[in-house]
Amino acid sequence: MTYCVDLHSHTDFSDGRLTPEELLLLAARQGVDILALTDHDTTEGIPRAQIAAAKYGVHLIPGVEISCQWRGQVIHLLGFNIDIYNSILQQGLLKIRNFRYLRAQAIAEKLNNYLKVKDMLKEVVAHAKNKENIARPHFAQVLVDRGHARHMQEAFKKYLLPGKPGFVALDAIPLEEAVTWIIQAGGIACIAHPLRYSFKLKRLTEMVEEFKRLGGQAIEVVAGTSKLDEITKMAELAQKLGLYASIGSDYHGMGLSWCAMGRTLPLPKECRSITELWS
Ligand code: AMP
Ligand code: MN
Ligand code: MN
Ligand code: MN
Repeated sequence: MTYCVDLHSHTDFSDGRLTPEELLLLAARQGVDILALTDHDTTEGIPRAQIAAAKYGVHLIPGVEISCQWRGQVIHLLGFNIDIYNSILQQGLLKIRNFRYLRAQAIAEKLNNYLKVKDMLKEVVAHAKNKENIARPHFAQVLVDRGHARHMQEAFKKYLLPGKPGFVALDAIPLEEAVTWIIQAGGIACIAHPLRYSFKLKRLTEMVEEFKRLGGQAIEVVAGTSKLDEITKMAELAQKLGLYASIGSDYHGMGLSWCAMGRTLPLPKECRSITELWS
């Protein structure tokens, strides 16, 4: 029997659109058997997601997507099957959310000046469910609502990407620290969407090798944006380095996602699926 597995998703506790209950209902409707909830830098949605998962008969993996950096480049690290009550992990995530709030203040100031308005921060915070966990999509939504961009992609392109008037880099903790937190919380660390960091293959391999030395065990071989040749490349990398392979849509909600929940391309047969660790 093959299971439908989706190990990367977001709720409105970070930058997704759906509540945990709506996300789990969608998972059940999409026929997803195993879903990981991996909000950016928070696990606040997990307890509600666990209740909904039991109700809808979905196996929920408690997860997180941690914003960190390696050699100055922001990297997203997934943690699966973490103990969400682990204090080292929670202290770490709180520190990142504080960085996020400081960055939101800086982005708002830049956008206020550029657009000659006053209240970007107030509106963005009003729009965010978790008032400190503010991500760029929250700004993008307000920019669209106010008519400064036609859609989210355009808001990113015009204002929020590097070099644009509202870009501010997130202060990020080192990859090493993030891996340690996940391991301390009893979880499995996995590099998210390895091909989205604009590294050449050699540098990416160096990063993943270092990640493995730190105790990391998996890379996301199939991501929401993955094309077949990219999947083949990442499957080879996982095999070469003896890592498990993960698969996830990175679902953020309608209009915010590259791929429907549970509808990624499949993991290549030669991969060792990370789900082997849980069966
Ligand atoms: P942040 O972590 O605050 O820097 O925001 C990053 C989030 O913005 C990612 O997790 C995506 O959900 C979203 N994102 C990144 N780049 C784009 C883009 N070009 N268009 C739309 N959404 C994006
Ligand atoms: Mn996101
Ligand atoms: Mn990500
Ligand atoms: Mn994500």
